[in-house]
Amino acid sequence: MKIILLGPPGAGKGTQAKSISSRYSIPHISTGDIFRKNISEKTSLGIEAKNYIDNGQLVPDDLTINMIKSRLEQEDCRNGFLLDGFPRTVIQAEALDRYLKLKNESLDTALLIDVPRDFILDRMTGRRVCPSCGASYHIKYNPPMILGKCNICGSDIVQRKDDTEATVRERLDIYDSQTQPLIDYYRSKNLLSIVQGTKAINEVFESICNILGRDYNDNN
Ligand code: ADP
Ligand code: AMP
Repeated sequence: MKIILLGPPGAGKGTQAKSISSRYSIPHISTGDIFRKNISEKTSLGIEAKNYIDNGQLVPDDLTINMIKSRLEQEDCRNGFLLDGFPRTVIQAEALDRYLKLKNESLDTALLIDVPRDFILDRMTGRRVCPSCGASYHIKYNPPMILGKCNICGSDIVQRKDDTEATVRERLDIYDSQTQPLIDYYRSKNLLSIVQGTKAINEVFESICNILGRDYNDNN
C-alpha cells in the first residue's frame, strides 16, 4: 500500500497518519517530523532547513526530494508507505513518480483530507506536539490524558514554533499557491480520494478506512 496524504496544514494528516500506519502496518513518513528531528540534532540538513520552517516557507525541493528518496530506500518501506507532508509541490510529485517508476512501482491513492480555512487557525494555534514521537494533540479537541504529557511516550508536549497565527497564515498562502495544484495533478491520474476532515477524529478515520478497505490485517 503506497499512500500519500494531502490537505492544508492543520487538516489532520499527522493525526490520521498515526492510526492509518498502525491499522495497515505501513510506515508513517512525515517530512515535517524528519526535518524537526534534524533540527533538534543540529545536522547539516537541519541547519539548512531551520529558517525556512520557522518562517513557514517550504524547504527547497532538491533538499526535500533527496531526503525523502533516502528514507524510501529503507527496509521498512518495501511493502508500502504513508507519506504525510510530501509531495508539497508539483516538482516533488513528479520526482516521486519518476522514483517509483524506476522501481516499477506506483502510488495506490492520494487521500485528500478536506478542511475549509475557517477551521484551520483554531486547530493550528491549539495544537501541541510530542517532540519525541511526533504525536499531535489539541488543547480542546484532542487533549492528552495527563495535562502536558504525551499519551504514547510520556514526554512533555510543546507548541510548535511555526504554529503562531502569522506563520500559519503564511503557510496557508503557500499551500494555496504551491500544494493545492496537486489535487488536480492526482485527480488527472485517477488517484484522488477525498474525505471530509471536519468531523470528529474517529469519524474521519472511519471514512478513511472505508476508502482504503477494511480487509487488511497485519499479515498483508
Ligand atoms: P496536519 O498534520 O495536517 O498539519 P494535525 O494532524 O497535526 O494536522 O492536526 C492539527 C490539529 O488539529 C491538532 O491539534 C489535532 O489534534 C487537531 N485535529 C486533527 N483532526 C481533528 C478533527 N477531526 N477535529 C478536531 N481537531 C482535529
Ligand atoms: P509539517 O510538519 O508537515 O507541517 O511541515 C512543517 C514544515 O516543514 C513546513 O512548513 C515546511 O517548512 C517543511 N516541509 C515539510 N514537508 C515539506 C516538503 N515536502 N517540501 C518543503 N518543505 C517541507
